[in-house]
Amino acid sequence: MSDSTDMSAKREQLVVERVPKGLLIGGRWRPAKDGREYEVEDPSTAQPLCAVPDAGAEDARAAMDAAAAAQAGWAATAPRERGEILRRAYELIVERQNDLALLMTLEMGKPVAESRGEILYAAEFFRWFAEEAVRVDGGWATAPDGNGRIWVMRQPVGPALLITPWNFPMAMGTRKIGPAVAAGCTMIVKPAHQTPLSMLALAEILGNAGLPDGVLNVLTTSRPGEVSTPLLEDPRLRKLSFTGSTGVGQKLIGQSAAGVLRTSMELGGNAPLIVCADADLEKAVEGAAIAKMRNIGEACTAANRMYVHQDLAEAFTGRLAEKLGSMVVGRGTEPDAQVGPLIDSAGLGKVDRLVRDAVGVGARVVTGGEPLSGRPGYFYPPTVLADVPADAAMLREEIFGPVAPVVTFTDDDEAIRLANDTVFGLVSYVFTESLRRGIRYAERLETGMLGLNKGVVSTPAAPFGGVKQSGIGREGGFVGIDEYLEIKYVAVDV
Ligand code: NAD
Repeated sequence: MSDSTDMSAKREQLVVERVPKGLLIGGRWRPAKDGREYEVEDPSTAQPLCAVPDAGAEDARAAMDAAAAAQAGWAATAPRERGEILRRAYELIVERQNDLALLMTLEMGKPVAESRGEILYAAEFFRWFAEEAVRVDGGWATAPDGNGRIWVMRQPVGPALLITPWNFPMAMGTRKIGPAVAAGCTMIVKPAHQTPLSMLALAEILGNAGLPDGVLNVLTTSRPGEVSTPLLEDPRLRKLSFTGSTGVGQKLIGQSAAGVLRTSMELGGNAPLIVCADADLEKAVEGAAIAKMRNIGEACTAANRMYVHQDLAEAFTGRLAEKLGSMVVGRGTEPDAQVGPLIDSAGLGKVDRLVRDAVGVGARVVTGGEPLSGRPGYFYPPTVLADVPADAAMLREEIFGPVAPVVTFTDDDEAIRLANDTVFGLVSYVFTESLRRGIRYAERLETGMLGLNKGVVSTPAAPFGGVKQSGIGREGGFVGIDEYLEIKYVAVDV
């Protein structure tokens, strides 16, 4: 082993060692009540990184007790104080970005530069909601008949369960924790079992930033249902915010019915990316590459179906294949790696199955098309498929990997019909040099968000969320805090 490899391995070990490996309940780090642990895996080597507690129902009840006990005091804290805690946490994350980025890469796989991008994006939610904490307002009006006044106030919803996915291990957390802290809600956070370490590191930072004990409780577990069910059945829980697959989201909406919980759902996508005949080809290829390859294609916002006007299809497909085919696949810690491994063997198996299915029904492989063999980890190379027929499963299911299926269309009505022919509606992308055409697409596409000549839409300052089976509610922007506030109306006799 060379000196520099040895040093890198030591640094990796150190960032993992530094993370507190406990359940955070009422401000204390503890093991699971039944002593169970599970191993966290590095997807680039398929080797374990470390073990974390494997919480069960008893731990969930203890976390609920802590969140409920802290709620009244936390709601009474000055909004400015809550904002200052978020601001300090923002600064600590930015200060520690290098270690946090390496940690995220080790548990999730994406290249370190992309992890750093997520860390900074995640921190921005804290900066944004630090500013929003002091802007929660209400209303006062004279009743229409002049008899009395209408007074409207907004108050924290109460203890919230926040469940996050593995693909953005920190940003999907701060997008919920930021507004919950700003609004004055206590929380129980359950990170995805594949990526608990980034959340544990974040919880420690929030403690260092001054978040009082019991406001944020964290349960790591490989048994999500055993932890979430007793919480969803507990009448003290008032809110569920979930980011993950539509299937699990539907199940949790069902379970939330008994307690009539406020729910926010950020679910799966099946984003169309439409390249019109008048698009700027280079801009469209650039946008498509980002919309497809960000996060190794493992994003709810990933372009899942590329609809390209027949006049541009050949040139677009060729340029996209050149661009994606030249990307460097490697372990996320390697300095030149641009495409890391998929999260696990199930993720790799799904991508492989979808590509085989598409090729089986007539799609043509332009680049990629086979899992990388001869190395450990779950690597799949960037892949472009042309002539993908309508019955290919990947046009209906989230691919969640670096595979771009290209389909041609002949006019705008056809493109809009194809794009809307899905139960999902998270994000869409349209490339056109015509403002008039862009507006028509924006109005007719069934989507929560639209990238107009842009391959990335995410920013803490905008309302993120989907329509149809992609979700309920919005995260970020001015409305993000509303998900954590209840409205109370007081009829005043004067
Ligand atoms: P997932 O639904 O498998 O898991 C998400 C979370 O739910 C994890 O924490 C998991 O442990 C937990 N979970 C799983 N089963 C559960 C159960 N029965 N009860 C309670 N919790 C349970 O999704 P994933 O594979 O982690 O993430 C990928 C999915 O997330 C994709 O569908 C993607 O589109 C979606 N996603 C959506 C957004 C968005 O903002 N709309 C953002 C990121 C990811």
